[in-house]
Amino acid sequence: MYDTRKSSLSPAEFLRSLRENLTLARLAILTGGLIVISLLLSWPLANNSSDRYSPWPNSQSGFTRPENDQTLGNAAPSITGDALPVAQFDMIVDDGLYTDDRRALADDLKQALDYVTKRFGSPPSSRFNAVVARDASCGLHGVAYTEERTVQVSSCNDIARPRAVAIMAHEFVHQLAQDRYGPAHLSADLMLAEGVATWGAGEYWLGSQPDFRSYVRGQRDSGIFYALATDYTGKGIDAMNALYYQWASFVDFLIATYGREKFDHLYVTGHGTPGSADYRGVYDKDLGALEQEWQAWLDQ
Ligand SMILES: [Zn+2]
Repeated sequence: MYDTRKSSLSPAEFLRSLRENLTLARLAILTGGLIVISLLLSWPLANNSSDRYSPWPNSQSGFTRPENDQTLGNAAPSITGDALPVAQFDMIVDDGLYTDDRRALADDLKQALDYVTKRFGSPPSSRFNAVVARDASCGLHGVAYTEERTVQVSSCNDIARPRAVAIMAHEFVHQLAQDRYGPAHLSADLMLAEGVATWGAGEYWLGSQPDFRSYVRGQRDSGIFYALATDYTGKGIDAMNALYYQWASFVDFLIATYGREKFDHLYVTGHGTPGSADYRGVYDKDLGALEQEWQAWLDQ
């Protein structure tokens, strides 16, 4: 169910409420969009092996790889910043984080929301909170509390602002998905929830690659390719990253081939796990058949 209470709170009340309410139990149901950490693995880590399929040049440094991108218990932030109204959201940034470029951060986030709204095709249904929290261990990750209408990126001053914005672009799309699809978003097929968020973030995740099809083709040609309905739990960050891009290209394929209306029908039929949506009911083909079509599409 939607919880609209918090939208009427003052920023100070909201922050207090946020601290009190973001319990583990709550987190577990928030959205399939927990995580994102190094989704952008390929660009921050330009100088290690992952850049063999990276669209990003060797221009990024100073990134500390997070130890664990899926630690639910770390997500509740202790936020001490003020709320700054920006377009359709309130930006809340931890004190001491990106202090010299708050205005630029606000502008970047506004631009990112405009961009992903256009790509995704529908706007936020009401105001929400965009939190930029300081990660004590200098990791970069995101989480979307879409029912709470709060999306969050954790970062640190050693991580360049555009990287935090890129993660936020993905989290924004989770909020847009909640607003478009309603409570069904919370049980969406993980492939579709993360796929649409990554696809919606578009150029923020693509670097110099023109589209997700090209990106995934390159990834596959370098030997990294998974069955679509793979559960990445326990497989590590590289697998998760690769799957996010595969899922983004699969979403791109579904929408380009069969249209957005059918995709919207599909999105609300999931049960959380990868591959759980009713592909046959919507496309009259099972996931295996669609996956084969997608693979052929990758080569077009
Ligand atoms: Zn996500």
